[in-house]
Order: sequence, then structure tokens, then C-alpha cells
Amino acid sequence: MSEFDNRSLSDAEMYFWLCQMARQLDVAAVIVNIKKGCTIDFVNHVFSQMTEYSEYDMNGATLAKLHGPSSDLLNEEAIQESIENGLTFKTSSLHYRKDGSIFWNEVNNLPMRNQLGELQYSLILMKDATEAMNVESLIELERDVFFSLENGTAVEQVLNNICSTVGATFGKKCVCSIALVDEHNRLKRVYGDLASERNTFPEEFFLIGLTYREQQLIKKPVILNNLHESDYQQIFAPLLEKYPFFSMWSQPILNTEGTVIGLFTIYFEQAIEPKAADFKFLNRIAPIITLAVKYFDQKNAIHQLAYQDVATGLKNFEHFKSSMMALIAHGCEGYLYIIEPGEYQNIVDLHGRQGGDEILRQLACRLQNLSTYDDSVIARYTNSSIIVASRQSFKEINIPQQEKDELLFEPYYIHEKETYVTLKVGKSAFNKYEPFMEAIRQADTALSNALKATGTVVKKFEQSHLESVEEEMNILVHIAKGLKNDEFFPMLQPKVNIATGEIESFEALARWISAEIGFVSPALFIPIAENTGNIYKIDREILRKVLQWQQNRMELGRKLYQVSVNISPTHFYHPGFVESAVALIESYQVNPKYIKFEITESVELDNVKRAKKIINELKTYGIDTSIDDFGVGYSSLSYLQELPFEEIKIDKSFVDYLADSRMNAVVKTIIQLSKNLNMVSVAEGIETEEQHEELKRLGCQTGQGYYYYRPMPLDDIDKLLEDTVHVMGEC
Ligand code: C2E
Ligand code: MG
Ligand code: MG
Repeated sequence: MSEFDNRSLSDAEMYFWLCQMARQLDVAAVIVNIKKGCTIDFVNHVFSQMTEYSEYDMNGATLAKLHGPSSDLLNEEAIQESIENGLTFKTSSLHYRKDGSIFWNEVNNLPMRNQLGELQYSLILMKDATEAMNVESLIELERDVFFSLENGTAVEQVLNNICSTVGATFGKKCVCSIALVDEHNRLKRVYGDLASERNTFPEEFFLIGLTYREQQLIKKPVILNNLHESDYQQIFAPLLEKYPFFSMWSQPILNTEGTVIGLFTIYFEQAIEPKAADFKFLNRIAPIITLAVKYFDQKNAIHQLAYQDVATGLKNFEHFKSSMMALIAHGCEGYLYIIEPGEYQNIVDLHGRQGGDEILRQLACRLQNLSTYDDSVIARYTNSSIIVASRQSFKEINIPQQEKDELLFEPYYIHEKETYVTLKVGKSAFNKYEPFMEAIRQADTALSNALKATGTVVKKFEQSHLESVEEEMNILVHIAKGLKNDEFFPMLQPKVNIATGEIESFEALARWISAEIGFVSPALFIPIAENTGNIYKIDREILRKVLQWQQNRMELGRKLYQVSVNISPTHFYHPGFVESAVALIESYQVNPKYIKFEITESVELDNVKRAKKIINELKTYGIDTSIDDFGVGYSSLSYLQELPFEEIKIDKSFVDYLADSRMNAVVKTIIQLSKNLNMVSVAEGIETEEQHEELKRLGCQTGQGYYYYRPMPLDDIDKLLEDTVHVMGEC
């Protein structure tokens, strides 16, 4: 605080004394005459150097001469008031030099009173504080950026903050923008005050500072003093039409390797030439932006790793979940699809895990390439499936037929080998009212159902599925207990010679009377055991008990009959199947010719090569095979000739419709074909005399059904066989 009002100097003496002092100062000094409307009487040479205004320019003027469009007028008014009222103060103000350039002026007011104690002069000391201010705001900015990064602030916000802080440093009448480019120097994103113009202004506009007057990228600042007269008027036209800008400074942003990653640009409303301090400032801004961008790139890379399925390059389920949560929070609703290639396991068996990954990748690619593909979210769900969320159901989307055909029927290529797949699809609906994970669980349940069907199928979730799953889980627990407690046993159903009515052999059918839940139909527990990988235990248990029975009969010297044991396809294809079945048969010392394996015809038999190998292997041990439920699946006749089964069992559904002429013709063909292939034809589920007669007429050799015998317990079979022998003996 300096006050000179206790000295007894005349006005003239005081003025003289002040001028003398001001001339000797190495800071800018201005003498303002308060009594003359606060006009300037004197400026020293340091002031003239700093502002480029001479004493002549300033004489009679007020401090307002230093004001410009970006000056803070409230602050200027406060300065003026303090001068008028003789108050000391120190403040920083954005002022303009004579050439229009701006600088931060540190203004220090020293009021001077005459001998009467009246306020006469103000000695105003000034200092160009631009550099200090810039350093201060840079430090502040750096701190802000670090803090924001640390706190997980979004990249937009951090870069927008940089723009607004820099803007404030240069006053209000300017805007800043950060344009980031990709590795091909194409505009990637725009941040800051012009971000909203990204799609309205041409791409060249945002990058003008990188290519100005050059063919290649320039790595130095570009200053354009008058945009209206630049070489690129056309590019600037949209900006100038909308905003009152006049000049532009730009500074390239380089990464640590010196590659251009973007451009920082400031547009001013008047012609402003940067001074050394401004260049320094721009130079220091760029690395802060580089740091922020690098941080976010790294964070993105980590994010990618955390949210990407590395094997397929697809997004992973974590990503799917978080994207969906965000969409649902915004009220989005639609449908979920879990899609699994029906042949996934076969593909993995043949081509390894990578084959499985590849098929999912190609499948996702096909979905994304659909012309109707919108903002669906696709991700890998499990090893064998992908998950898709779509606002509209696939049905509503109306995929063009050709694309649908390509999606479903074009071959996939794994290691350049053509592979065909069927798609099993589980569908459910999602909305904000139900937990999202519930929708996923529902699509999962629907998928389990789809997996049980043949061909490409979409199954919708229905509550009954869930009930059946619960029931399945319940039964599954009991199956495990049942196996442990020896609750499974075979019933035998005779297979008779249709022509003579003689029992030729038997089929063993699994029965289960659970101590806890009572009788359970095989139609219920067999599919559950198949789905949960327990079926081989039941198959083996039935085989074991059949062998036991045969061994007993052998020991009692009774006649042995061939018994067919049902083997599920998954069990049949299991690598150890033949070996362990043969070992079990041998352990009971039963001749393998008394055992036949019935395998249900299914899509899996498509795998003709493998099936053929297993059938032939069984044949070398003397074990016959039979194809069960023939005609229920698809394309049966075409591969039948390649598979050396001994027997073909015509499904009950054909037998039921023998009266239908078309069906009748099909059955006739099957019987004829099996004869040609040296297979025995067996008709299943014969219930009536008419069916029996018709099959006899068609030349079917063997019949099985309630018309002849129902499945019976082993003891009853023993009795039946005794009686039969007896009856036959009597004849
Ligand atoms: P499948 O092998 O085709 O067996 C024939 C089914 O038809 C049996 O049903 C049998 O009881 C029934 N059946 C026989 N004659 C008639 C008839 O005249 N009319 C009617 N309506 N039905 C008749 P079941 O015992 O309920 O077995 C159902 C299926 O479960 C079997 O069909 C077979 O695929 C499977 N299965 C049974 N036991 C086993 C087993 O030990 N292992 C495996 N993997 N599957 C088994
Ligand atoms: Mg069977
Ligand atoms: Mg059958």
C-alpha cells in the first residue's frame, strides 16, 4: 500500500515528480489525471514498448483504449471505479495492444492526493503478465486433466474442458476445437465448441491447419489473420456464414513418436497475431491433449481386451450385458436371440476349438452383413453360441429371401473346407420391466428346446418351457439317485416274424420306478438323460441287465434270443463306446451275436463316415446294429445305402398311416430298399390286425407292437418263452 497524500506538493510539482519517477521505472507506467475525467497525461516508454501506443497516442485518452472485444468489461468498470475513488488495487485484465493483439495486463493502481488532500492523479503501474497467466492456467489445466483422468471422466468432457479453459485464457470472443485424426489422417472426432458442427462442416475444414498450402501434413502452427481473404474461402464459408470469426491459429498435436494425431485450433473474432508467449502457450497445450488422448486410447485398449472375445474378435458377454443395460435404461425394448450351430460339437471334433470359433465368427459376420441389420448388439455368449439383441424381431425385420438363403444355406469355410450348419435359435423378449438376466435365461431355455429339434429352428420362450426345465432338473436329480439305487431295469418286447408270428428276438426298453417319484415314462427321462449326458449310464445299465438275464438263461440251458438294446446317438458316437460295450458283453460270456444295438436315426447320422466306422467295428465283434425310428428324421434314404446296418425299424408314425396311399407307397419303398440293401425291415407299433396284414402284404419281415406283445418284465418273458416252446411243442 503506497499513499503519497501526506506530502505537500503542488499539482504541477506532483505531476513533474511522478513523470520523473515513471521514466525511471522498468515497468509500464501511466499517469491518469483524475480531475480531467481520468484521462491519461503521461505514459512511460516501457508502456509504449508493451502496448505499441506512443505517448502521443495515449495523451488525453482513457484506459478504455486498451479494451477490446474479449476484455472483461465488469472488471474494467471496477478498475475505473477504483481509480475514480482513489482506491489502491492490483488486478489482471485482458488488454489489447495497438496492433490488436491481446495480453494479460497486471494493473496496479497508486492514487495520488495533492496538498489539500484531494485526489489528483493515479499512477498506474502495468506489467505484461501473459506468460505468467498462461503458465498458471496451464498448470491449472494440467491438474484438471490429471484429476479428470483419474476420476474416470469421459474423454469428451476432458477435451471439451481443455477447449473452454484455453478459450477463457484468450478472452471470451474466441472458440477452440480439437480435431483428432486416424492413422490415415482422416477426421475421427471433433471436441470443443465446434463439435456440434462435425457433420455440417466439411472434413477439410476441421483439418485445414494440417494441410494448409501443403501437399503433406505440416507439423507447425498455422496462423490465418483474415479468414475472409484466405486461399480456402470455400472451406471456411460455412463457418463464416454462421459465426463472426476473423482469424485462426492452429497447432498440430503430435504423439510421442512425432506422428500427427490431431489439431488444436482457436478462432478469434478479430485479427489477432500471436506473440512469442502465445506460441509458447500453444506449444504447451498440445502435449496435454496428447497425454489425455493417449490415456484414453490405452484405456480403450484395456476396455477392448476386457470386453472382447479374443478368439473371434466379437464383443464378449460382459460388453453385451453393459451395452444392453444402458439401452434398456433408455427405455429400449426388443428381442434376444441366442444362436448355436447345431453341428458345433462336430465341428470342434473335426477342426478343433479354432474351428468352433471360426464358425461363430463367420455366423456373426453374416448377421452383421444383412442389409436389414440395424443397431443390433451381437456378442459371443458361450463357447458354442452367439447372442443378438434386436429392437425388432427377425420376423418383423423381413430379411430379403436371398439374404436369408445365404445366411442359412450357404456353406461356411473352415480351413477351406465347406461346412454346412443348421441354426438352433432361442428367442425371448426384453424390456425395462423385467430383469435383463431373466430375458437371457428365457432365451437360454428356448435354445435348449431348439437344440432338441431337427434342422434350423427358432424357439420362442414360453413359461411352460421353464416349468419343463424345472421338472427336468428335478428328474435329473432323481435319475442320479435312481442309478445309484438300482431302480432302472429292462422290459422286453418281442419282435415277431410277421409271416409266421414266431418270436424272433426282443427289444429291451428301459423302465424306471423311482422310490421317490414312482413310475417315470422313458419318453420323459430318456430325453433328459440325453440332454444332460447321463444316457450312457442308463444304456449300460439296461445292457448289463439284459446280459445278466441272457447269462442266467444260458446257465439254465435255455434258448438264447437276440436282444436289441437302445443306444442314444451321443453314446454311440462316444469314442470309448465300442470298446466298453464289447468288454461288458465279454464279461458275461454272452456271444455278441445275441446283442443288437438300436440307434435312433437322427441328423447326427449325417456324420456318415464316423457312423460307418463304428458300425463296422461292431460288426467285427459280431454285434448287429439297427436303425431305429426310421423316417422320422430327414434325408434317410440317401445315406442308408452307405451305412451297413443289419436292420431298419420303420417308425410307428408310418405304420399308423398305412391306409394313406402316399404313406403306403413310402413304406413299400423302404421295405423294398432294405431288401435290396440286405437289411431286415421291422415295423414298429403295430396295434391292429389290418396293420399286420398290410405289412405282411408289403413284405415286411418283422413286426413289433401291442398287437403281438406289450413290453414285459424279464420273468414274464421267461414264462412266455417256456409257454411258447410248450405250445409249439404240443403242435
Ligand atoms: P423305441 O426304441 O422306438 O421303442 C419303441 C417304443 O414304442 C417303446 O416305447 C415301446 O413301449 C413303444 N411301443 C411298442 N409297441 C407299441 C405299440 O403297439 N403301440 C404304442 N403306442 N407304442 C408301442 P417306450 O418304452 O416308452 O420307449 C420310448 C423310447 O425311449 C424308445 O423308443 C427308445 O427310443 C427310448 N428308450 C427306451 N429304452 C431306452 C434305453 O435303454 N436307452 C435309450 N437310449 N433309449 C431308450
Ligand atoms: Mg428302439
Ligand atoms: Mg422306435
